[in-house]
Amino acid sequence: MKNTLYLFLCFVFACHQSPNADQQTVVSEATISTEKTTEEASKSISTAYKNEDSLYYETLHDTAMVELIRYDKDFVLDIKYATTDNFTKQLLYDCGRSFLRKKVAKDLLNAHQAFKKLGFRIKIFDGYRPHSVQFKMWDLTPDKRYVGNPYKGSMHNRGCAVDLTLVDKNGKDLTMGTVYDFFGQKAHITYTKLPKDVLENRRILKEILEKNGFRALETEWWHFSYNRNVYSILNTPIPCDVNVKQF
Ligand SMILES: [Zn+2]
Repeated sequence: MKNTLYLFLCFVFACHQSPNADQQTVVSEATISTEKTTEEASKSISTAYKNEDSLYYETLHDTAMVELIRYDKDFVLDIKYATTDNFTKQLLYDCGRSFLRKKVAKDLLNAHQAFKKLGFRIKIFDGYRPHSVQFKMWDLTPDKRYVGNPYKGSMHNRGCAVDLTLVDKNGKDLTMGTVYDFFGQKAHITYTKLPKDVLENRRILKEILEKNGFRALETEWWHFSYNRNVYSILNTPIPCDVNVKQF
């Protein structure tokens, strides 16, 4: 009886020890599930890349699509199209990761340094966007003021546009007058009937990004396109496997 009890306890213990425990940890780090909130996904990406050497990117060509947070872990990610909290109310990306062409990413990194000196950090809403997603958006909102015509291809499809805002040292969004993807006059950069602090925040955002090679879009305070180069359109899905560093 004593032996039977011992064997039983060993069996239970072994089950809970689960030889796959390590494996499960690896899987959860390697696959960024859309079931997580973008904030959780962002934390899990940072953890997974803790020992990453960003110099790895120095060997890549300027046109390589690279992940922003591997360059600078201070970027805040809030990738709306990896959630249903966006203007389409549909999940458009498999994962909440953000990629840009290497040359664009490096100039954005320089802008980020300037923002950090003022006590702010960049929060990314969107970067590279697969071409097929552009068609989905266009089907839902065929208005070229707000969605790039997919037949021409958006700058996001080329990995050289970024949607972003700024957060303060506590991670709180700076007030910009409207939410992201607000389709209306109040989001236009020429609209000035706004509180002073909103106008000042928009000015800082625009001024520093423009100094670093980006240009603003008249209808969206959050959208900036790269001014120095144009790259080809891509339709590669955003990879969910964190071992995929670039494409
Ligand atoms: Zn945009």
